[in-house]
Amino acid sequence: MSDALPRELFDAQLRAILEAHGAEAIMDRSGRPAAMSVFAGEHALEAVGQDDPRHRYGLAFEAGEDEGALEAWIASGEAYDDYLSMNACRFGCGATEGVTMQTELAEALVEAGRFFFSRGWVPATSSNFSARLDEARALLTVSGRHKGRLTTDDFLRVAIDSGFSLDAGKRPSAETLLHTQLYARAPNIGCVLHTHSMPATVLSRLTEGALELEGYELAKAFPGVDSHESTLTIPVFANDQDIPRLAARVDAWIDANGLPVGYLIEGHGLYTWGATVDDTVRHVEALEFLLECELWLRRVG
Ligand SMILES: [Zn+2]
Repeated sequence: MSDALPRELFDAQLRAILEAHGAEAIMDRSGRPAAMSVFAGEHALEAVGQDDPRHRYGLAFEAGEDEGALEAWIASGEAYDDYLSMNACRFGCGATEGVTMQTELAEALVEAGRFFFSRGWVPATSSNFSARLDEARALLTVSGRHKGRLTTDDFLRVAIDSGFSLDAGKRPSAETLLHTQLYARAPNIGCVLHTHSMPATVLSRLTEGALELEGYELAKAFPGVDSHESTLTIPVFANDQDIPRLAARVDAWIDANGLPVGYLIEGHGLYTWGATVDDTVRHVEALEFLLECELWLRRVG
């Protein structure tokens, strides 16, 4: 948890950001979000672009007609007040913004759970879901809950660097590290979803090394894929009850090959991720569809 910057330092840092990026960069203009927003980093303000998951929680100027309004926004202290209220949860003085965001993310994950259960992808009390709260914390399902019948109480906050629970009395899933390692590695990952579907379980047992998905139009559901001719490589890791050891194998594979769109654990299930909960739900849906297609191909072939 960081402390709020004093007013003079905030004004000076904001002016330096405007100098570096141009005033236009942080102006919201009727319905069009600003190219950059200003986010309170650990020690200083940072300007983050739209591809950064923190962008939507950052500070931007609601542009009026005249340019002088921007200077007035800073000089009057209004910018500083906006900064304090937007970062209330980080500074521990109000927490309204943080609580709202946490509830919204929990609601989105509850809905994802209901959808996945209706499709048979989260049987019994298996699987776990998480979403990033900020650069240091993520929201994760509590251990042992049924994912088709979650409530917004069935989540806890965990520290991304250690995986430890930040909510007394709530125990995170044994697989927490498989979530936090992804948040720690890639700042643009905002959600990680893990499912235990039948096709993922069966195919992972039939595949050595990595599953290559080729020739599927639906591969285009993933960022950066624009043709059915692309191959999606889904690594398969041996199951392991020693989660740190499994996480180390995942890290080593990503270090060597880059971030895949998801991976399988043998006889166990699927992990996939994305910038937002919605994106990640779509990735689960696309991968589950592709895995089902592969399984059918093998049955008829
Ligand atoms: Zn699992």
